[in-house]
Amino acid sequence: MFGIRAGAAFDGERAIPGGALVLVNGGHIAGVEPRAAAAPDGCEILEVPDGTVLPGLIDAHVHLCADGTDGSLDRIGEPSAGGMQAIISHSLRTHLAAGVTTIRDLGDRRFAVLGWRTAPHDGGYPAVLASGPPITSVGGHCAALGGEAAGEEQLRAAVRERAARGVDFVKVMASGGFATAGTQVMLCQFTQDELRAVVEEAHSAGLPVTAHAHGRPAVQMAMAVGVDGIEHCSFLTDRGIVQSAEDLARLAAAGIAVCPTVGFAGVPSPTSNARAVLERQGVTIEQLIETRQRRVGELHAAGVRLVSGTDGGVARTKPHGMLPLSVAALVAGGVSTAAALATATSVAAQVCGLGDRKGWLRVGYDADLLVVQGDPVAGIAALGRPLAVFARGRRAADLRSAR
Ligand SMILES: [Zn+2]
Repeated sequence: MFGIRAGAAFDGERAIPGGALVLVNGGHIAGVEPRAAAAPDGCEILEVPDGTVLPGLIDAHVHLCADGTDGSLDRIGEPSAGGMQAIISHSLRTHLAAGVTTIRDLGDRRFAVLGWRTAPHDGGYPAVLASGPPITSVGGHCAALGGEAAGEEQLRAAVRERAARGVDFVKVMASGGFATAGTQVMLCQFTQDELRAVVEEAHSAGLPVTAHAHGRPAVQMAMAVGVDGIEHCSFLTDRGIVQSAEDLARLAAAGIAVCPTVGFAGVPSPTSNARAVLERQGVTIEQLIETRQRRVGELHAAGVRLVSGTDGGVARTKPHGMLPLSVAALVAGGVSTAAALATATSVAAQVCGLGDRKGWLRVGYDADLLVVQGDPVAGIAALGRPLAVFARGRRAADLRSAR
C-alpha cells in the first residue's frame, strides 16, 4: 500500500476542500481521506503540499497510428507492421507522461491499435479503447486508413466486421474533413438512410457510434439517426458557425456526447480544405479557432454533454499528450475549470463505458492517478505540469517526454 498526500484534490467532479490523502492498494484506490488523516502503519506517502491529486486523464479522441506531423493520417502508407507498432507504443508513452491513463483511439490503420486493448495497463501504458479504421465513403475523409464503404449493404458489413474484431466504438465519417484533400467539410458523405443503417447495425451488436461531423447538415443528420457521440460537431456553414437554440436543445436532450477536439499546440498551418473554408467565411485561422472555442462554451452552457479529446497525432499542432491544452481551450471558451476537468475525467469515463471504475477518486476504482504542480481548479495551466502519473497503481517511470 502507498499514499499520496496533496494540498489540493479534484475528485472527478469537484475540488475536495483542503486536499486529500489518497491510499492505493494493489492497483485500486483503497481510501480517499482528509489530508490530515493518519497514514496506515508502514505506508509510504508521497507528500505534495503544493500539488493536486486527481483521476488520471482520459483522451477520448486520439489517432495512435499518426506520428504528429502534418498530413500524418493521409500519408500513412504502409509502414512495416513493426514500424507501426513502434509508432503506437511511442504515442501511448507520450500520452501517459502527460497524465493520460486512458485513450480512446478513433481511427487506426487497418485495425493496428486493436491488439493494445488487452496490453498490460500497469505503469507502462495507458488503457486503450479502439474503433479500428473509421467507416468512410469511397475516397472520403481518411480513406487511407482502410475503412471505405459504399451503400447500405457494405456499411452494415463494415460494422459487423468491427463487432467481430472486438472494437469498443464504431466511428463513422459523416462529413468530409480538413485533412483529406478532395473531401468537402461542409458536405455529408452518406445519405441519411445509409448513416441510419450504420447506427442500427452497431446498436444491434451492442456498440455505440460516434460520428465525425464538421458541416451543419452532417451534425443534424447525425442527431436525426440517433448516434451516441459527435466528434468536432462544428456546425460549419459558409456563413460561419451556425448553431441554433433548437440544435443545442436537441443535442442536450438526446445526451449525445460531443467531443469538440478544441485546442492546438501553436497556430496550425491551414490545409487546402481549411483555406477554402476560411476564404468563403472571410476570416483568419486564429479568428475561426477563437470563435469555435466560444461556440463550444455555448454548447456547455446549453447543457450539452462535452467530453475532452485532442485528435492527437494528426498534425504538428496536434501532438500526442496535448490533452491539457484541449481542456484549457474549453476554459478559454467559457467553461468553468471544474467542469472542464470533468470532461477529461468523470464525464469521459462515463462516455467510454468505464464510469464504474475510472474517472473518479473513489474507493475501489482503478488507481489511475495524476499529481500536478499547483491547482488546476484555481488555474487550468497547472494541468500541464505533471509531477507523477500512476496507471493501475504503478508509477510511470519517465515524465520527460511530456515537456
Ligand atoms: Zn480524428
